[in-house]
Formats: sequence, C-alpha cells, structure tokens
Amino acid sequence: MKENITTIPINDLFKPKDGCPICRMEDMLEKTYVDFIVGDAMMEPNIRIETNRKGFCHRHYSKMFAAGQKLPNALIMESHLKSIIENVLPEKPGSKPDKKALEKIEELNRTCYVCDRIDRDIHHLLSTVLSEYVKSDEFRELYRAQPFLCLNHYALIMRDAMGRGGIKSKNMADFHRDTYNLTKNYLSSLKEDTTYFCSMFDYRNRGGDFGKSKDVIERNIEYLTKEKP
Ligand SMILES: [Zn+2]
Ligand SMILES: [Zn+2]
Repeated sequence: MKENITTIPINDLFKPKDGCPICRMEDMLEKTYVDFIVGDAMMEPNIRIETNRKGFCHRHYSKMFAAGQKLPNALIMESHLKSIIENVLPEKPGSKPDKKALEKIEELNRTCYVCDRIDRDIHHLLSTVLSEYVKSDEFRELYRAQPFLCLNHYALIMRDAMGRGGIKSKNMADFHRDTYNLTKNYLSSLKEDTTYFCSMFDYRNRGGDFGKSKDVIERNIEYLTKEKP
C-alpha cells in the first residue's frame, strides 16, 4: 500500500463527531484493506501467502464480494483452496487421524487476514490517540466532544491506556473520567429511550408520540453488537 494508513492525522478521524470514533477508525481500516485485497494486493505474492494461510471471515468475504470484481475474488479463493488441500488436510486418508491437521483447521476457522490487519493497526492508531490526548488541548476537547464510545472500544482503549506506552499515571484520572463519561452517558440515554419506548405500550399512553425513542431497538442492536439490524 502506498501510504501508511496508520499515519493519517488523528484529528481528521475525530472531527466528524458521528457515532463511536474508534468504530469509524475500524471502518476506515476495513474498507482500505478490503479494497486492497481485491485490488492492488493481487500483484503482491507475499500478501497472497498470508491470505492463503489465514483466509477470511464471513463478514470480509462478503465485503470483498461486494467491493471487487468476480475474477479477483475467485482467484483468491482458488489459491486459498489449493493451500488448504496441500497444507491443512491430512495427507494419508485411512491412517491414524491427524490431530495436527485438526488443529490447523480450527486455527484457520479463527483467523481472517482483514480482521488481523485491523486488530494490529488499530493499536497503532490508538497509541496516537493517547499521546495526542496528553499533549494537545485541542485534541482533548475534540475527544470529549465525541457522541459516544461503544462498549467494546471503551474496553479496548482503556486496556491500551493502562498498558505499556499508554497513559502516564498523572494523566490517568482525567483520561479515565473523559473516556468513562463518553460510554456511560450514552448508555444511560439509550436506557432512558428504551424505558420510554416500553412505556409507550402501556394502554394509558396509547396514541402518544414515541419521539426519539422510535428507533431504539435498532440503536440498541447497533450499539451492543456493532452490526446494523
Ligand atoms: Zn466503537
Ligand atoms: Zn474478518
């Protein structure tokens, strides 16, 4: 890939203030890698070796199918199938079952080239978020002004903040408070909207206005699972 994706200015990623900023970072990485796999990566044998070994999860096969032409998708699959036949399945049928082969299959089911790249890159981006939070007043304001942090990413960024090269102890109380508020405030408002939504089914409220609670089931599913219903 031409530019290093992890050097994109973190301010630009936080400016849109639309949903969870780390979800947005992941979406950006995901789109870049999916387009890359069915595009430029076709010419890079090293990438093919890795995709042959790891394969893809259902979500990413589907995204590649939607984003790419049919031939690149089929070529990736052909070479992955060849690699499974040659490297994963036991060679001698009928002999003693090969435990190692089973472990390889189970390993293959757990890995995805795109998921793994996102996992790795997101930690680079988060380390920039943490260092910007400490050194830039402007970024700290932008961080606090995010609509929310999803539950998954609350845990992810707090783990990184607490880990090596994370947030120094003198900044931890501020960082923890700001991060906690982003998650807790949204959870509370989602809970409030959900309670309101339920109350609208009471006969005393018949014909009343659902207001902003009307899409609360959809918002719960998206918030709690990261997938749109
Ligand atoms: Zn998120
Ligand atoms: Zn995946």
